[in-house]
Amino acid sequence: MRQLATACEAIAGTTKKLLKTGIVADYLKSRTTDEAAVSAVFLSGRAFPAWEETTLQVGGRSLWQIVAALSGSQESQLTGAYRRHGDLGAVAGEVLPQRAGQGLGVLEVEGTFRQIAAARGPAARAAMVRDLISRATPLEAKYIIKVMTGDLRIGLKESLVEEAIARAYGGTLADVQRANMLVGDIGETVRLALKGILSAAEMRMFHPLGFMLASPIESAEEGLSYFGEAAVEDKYDGIRAQAHVADGEAKFFSRTRDEITESFPELPDALAGLPQDAILDGEIVAWEYPRDLSDTRRVVDEAASDASEQKTVNLGRARPFSVLQQRLGRKKVSDKMLREIPVAFLVFDVLYAGGELVMDRPLRERGRILDELLAAPRKSFNHRGHGGSQRRSPAQGALAFDVEREPRDPIAEASIIRAPAFRVSSPEELEELFAVAQERGNEGLMIKDLDSSYTPGKRGKSWLKMKRELATLDVVVTAVEYGHGKRVGVLSDYTFAVWQADRLVNIGKAYSGLTDDEIAEMTQWFLDHTVEDQGFRRTVEPKIVLEVAFNNMMQSDRHESGYALRFPRIVRLRPDKSAEEADTLERAREIFEKQQK
Ligand code: AMP
Repeated sequence: MRQLATACEAIAGTTKKLLKTGIVADYLKSRTTDEAAVSAVFLSGRAFPAWEETTLQVGGRSLWQIVAALSGSQESQLTGAYRRHGDLGAVAGEVLPQRAGQGLGVLEVEGTFRQIAAARGPAARAAMVRDLISRATPLEAKYIIKVMTGDLRIGLKESLVEEAIARAYGGTLADVQRANMLVGDIGETVRLALKGILSAAEMRMFHPLGFMLASPIESAEEGLSYFGEAAVEDKYDGIRAQAHVADGEAKFFSRTRDEITESFPELPDALAGLPQDAILDGEIVAWEYPRDLSDTRRVVDEAASDASEQKTVNLGRARPFSVLQQRLGRKKVSDKMLREIPVAFLVFDVLYAGGELVMDRPLRERGRILDELLAAPRKSFNHRGHGGSQRRSPAQGALAFDVEREPRDPIAEASIIRAPAFRVSSPEELEELFAVAQERGNEGLMIKDLDSSYTPGKRGKSWLKMKRELATLDVVVTAVEYGHGKRVGVLSDYTFAVWQADRLVNIGKAYSGLTDDEIAEMTQWFLDHTVEDQGFRRTVEPKIVLEVAFNNMMQSDRHESGYALRFPRIVRLRPDKSAEEADTLERAREIFEKQQK
């Protein structure tokens, strides 16, 4: 761990990417295979490989207390150090006492991380963390804590670790990226690179892959400016999900690669009978089914090629996100909830089908594969003991909305719906579709290049999003305050930030938009994840992402970002986004400059 920490210090000491990757490459080469594999994961700012569900479950407050106890520092000393560094790992490096001895091995640290993750209860976990930190040198502790909090803050992203792997072991960067994307484990990628068998990397079912992301556009003209032929879909306001279907079993994963099948027990059954194993990409939404199901008709993408035709197809419609929210984060979904808030999985892409990865095929071809897959008769499926699979299976004959089903029970209503895709060729048509999408209560449109391949984890110009708001920012909460009036006693005022390179810079403060229930829940979270208690105000772990809307933006030195937002309001919590995915200062500047025109 000493060598890793020393390498990290050197990486932090330069802004040159080439130097950074050189240091990582040299370090990896100097290690055994196992050590290099574990180190690559740590260098990506993770305690465990990306695909794994394992989490440490050790909060910032607990870490803070451990560092305080082991250092014997006064609270004020620690607070002072935190103000200077803004990072608990760096604080630990400064305040912990030097110790003699061998230090720790990275494998030992990883082994302890796994024991911590498996331990029952916060007290047992805290004792293990304390023991680990007490055996580390201050420099090692600095980086152990940074890994534990998920952010090294040394200007090293996973993409640079990929470059370093290519440099260290001599594969092409594209091969390394592809292998890492498929196995979802940068440590495993190191092993493959070392053996010179990157091309043998295989996608594994039930290991979520990265999601393809979209870039915002400001006008219909811009929406058609990047590519020749576009497929246009409604932008549904729900949560993004990747479904893995194999051997009669189906699981759903969120954008943060967490498994979310439990929250939607009715969905796996509806998918498990697909005729082929598959990985599908789509949006789970709260769905209002048409009153008369016999009135519904199936949509096959190219058949419905213009907006007017679409209006005649009655599939039902998405309900607002706030409705879906009531179903999120639950371990157990009551029958009442299933009945009152049925959901649907709106599928818009396919990554794998029939034994073949299809991500490199153009969207027009993936669309066809998806249509065939969903239109084929569903076979009956094996029960595997999870969630709703204990229940009666829904109609499996064809697309769920294609069938009249009696009696209408919520489980049977769980639907897998092919998101209708349209072709447009002019900005006017796009505007028309946008208006229709909004009439249906959807957020706007997604505009996709029919010739593009599926690029996981990338935000490029092949997928574009056209939204209702002038602009919203996805921001990270950095500090919270107690509210006033009926909000006394709850942490309801949030200060939030955007990214400037590796740093979060505050850009505004908002206190309206969340429901009382959400505020109560967030209050508890913030109490558990306080980094510094300043009495009326608490700095908190920068993990919570909010979507904020505002009327306009001003230049101001009130916040570190140099901007302030006018009438900011919280549109919603974004539990599906990690802090790293929040917006950047550059994006804020773009919005500001557009508004000046
Ligand atoms: P945003 O969350 O604002 O960055 O917008 C991108 C998100 O829109 C995706 O991650 C999906 O969750 C969601 N979305 C809704 N409908 C679609 C669609 N038809 N295609 C792709 N993404 C969609």
